[in-house]
Amino acid sequence: MISNNVMKINDYGDMIFYRVACACGSNDCDCDISLEYDKSIKTISMIFYKNLYWNDHYSHKMFITRWLSRLKVSLKILFTGYIKVNEEFLIQSEQHIDDFIKALQEGKEKLKKNKGDQKCSSKNI
Ligand SMILES: [Zn+2]
Repeated sequence: MISNNVMKINDYGDMIFYRVACACGSNDCDCDISLEYDKSIKTISMIFYKNLYWNDHYSHKMFITRWLSRLKVSLKILFTGYIKVNEEFLIQSEQHIDDFIKALQEGKEKLKKNKGDQKCSSKNI
């Protein structure tokens, strides 16, 4: 049983979804993971999905500094079409790490077992 900030969201037989909570406690930080067995290339794939946010530097107390930061990013998007963002995702404590590893191993083993029979029905957890 996986329990400490790691949840199985759905199991479709050939595709399993997990949600790993960030240790900071904000739901906005959660990371969704899909494990999938692709029969056509006979490979198990793992994909991470996470919302990323850009915000002005809250450490800057002056409104004008924050506004200039927003303007700079807006211009960057306007002229280049993109911005780079990064965001932390915290797995904290041995238990959290162990449960994350357990989820990945459980999903991998399940997909290895189900290689032959791709089920389409959902087994909601
Ligand atoms: Zn977080």
